[in-house]
Amino acid sequence: MGTDPPARLAIMGALVDGEAVGVRCEDGTIAAIGLDVAPLPGDETIDAGGAPLVPALVNGHTHAAMTLFRGYGGDLPLMRWLREKIWPIEERLDDEDVYWGTRLACAEMIRTGTARFWDMYWRPSATARAVEDAGLRATIGGPLFDADGGTAEMRAQALRDIEALSEHGPAIDTALAPHSIYAVSEGLLRWAGERAAELGLAFHIHLSETEQEVTDCLDAHGERPAAYLDRLGLLGERTVLAHGVWLDQAELELIAARGSTVVTNPVANLKLAVGGTLPYPAARRAGAAVGLGTDGAGSNDSLDLFSDLKTFALMQRHTSGDPTVLPAAEALEVASGARAPLLGGGATPLTPGAPADFLLLRGDSPALGIGDLASDLVYAASGAVVDTTVVAGRVLMRGGEIEDEAEIVARAAERARRLGIE
Ligand SMILES: [Zn+2]
Repeated sequence: MGTDPPARLAIMGALVDGEAVGVRCEDGTIAAIGLDVAPLPGDETIDAGGAPLVPALVNGHTHAAMTLFRGYGGDLPLMRWLREKIWPIEERLDDEDVYWGTRLACAEMIRTGTARFWDMYWRPSATARAVEDAGLRATIGGPLFDADGGTAEMRAQALRDIEALSEHGPAIDTALAPHSIYAVSEGLLRWAGERAAELGLAFHIHLSETEQEVTDCLDAHGERPAAYLDRLGLLGERTVLAHGVWLDQAELELIAARGSTVVTNPVANLKLAVGGTLPYPAARRAGAAVGLGTDGAGSNDSLDLFSDLKTFALMQRHTSGDPTVLPAAEALEVASGARAPLLGGGATPLTPGAPADFLLLRGDSPALGIGDLASDLVYAASGAVVDTTVVAGRVLMRGGEIEDEAEIVARAAERARRLGIE
């Protein structure tokens, strides 16, 4: 599906800001949108029948192939879950496991309205192949770890991953993805930052997820996590920091000054009981770019970003004690990437020249149709309201139907069984 050339696509009668408009897509971008737009000969035409059209979402942090571990040992404490369940199996993963796990993740993302995601996982070229076959877009990096030594080996692996990712098409962007400041040595962090800068690649890392991480960083380096990363030269305009639960105001101001992006993953924070969530009002005050992520299916376990959008908004209201702290339209902008340009989300509003990444929502959904659409999408909807998903001008789901979905679900389950996950 994803390897077909982008079709010329016309969507007629879609509702945007209360008006029925037409949208034409050519070469993966929006060629025209408005009241007087009509299909041209040769266009694949969809009659939206008055269904709302909204930008697609961008999942700013995940480990897509971990769909294979969904529902597996999730009630264990974090370190036991990793040591007893996840790490032994990850040692046995092969390319086909990662490919089908990622195809399963992509099917779920297409179904729930995500067009693009930021991934950190083993065998990144297999992830990239799955993303291309699914027709989505992704920024992908293989994780780096050297807490137990193995720095030279990790550098060699990173270079091989970069090389392999560079052979993929335009839907794939490459990142360096050191796991975290506690699992990666200072030397390897600096090296990864230098390679990312030299090659113009993104830099994707977990930061300030647990309070322990902050305490350990203060003990080891005499500074908080964001200040430590900045001293190593790793806070830049192409840096994505996943979590940021324990960032203080000074760290958020530093992140904003450097132009880095923070991605909050509220459901994973709740499931792993880290005791908090990104202080979004402080991040906004500082002017930091913020996006929304699910994290991997091992710690969420869903990839439905519309569902996590509600949790994001509720967590911010609850922790601030202020129900006015995050308007629904702004929460939706965070999920679509409009408040973090680096993430590469769809344009808000959709305009000619923007990537043709958008959704048609179910016009007959009981969750929509009354009241403010943004409010309905944040508080009443889930990804189940998505009817049609268009990415780069290709229709990846229409009327809730995804080509090959049954095969993808079966093949992923087969790979999970092969790995001993029942
Ligand atoms: Zn993560």
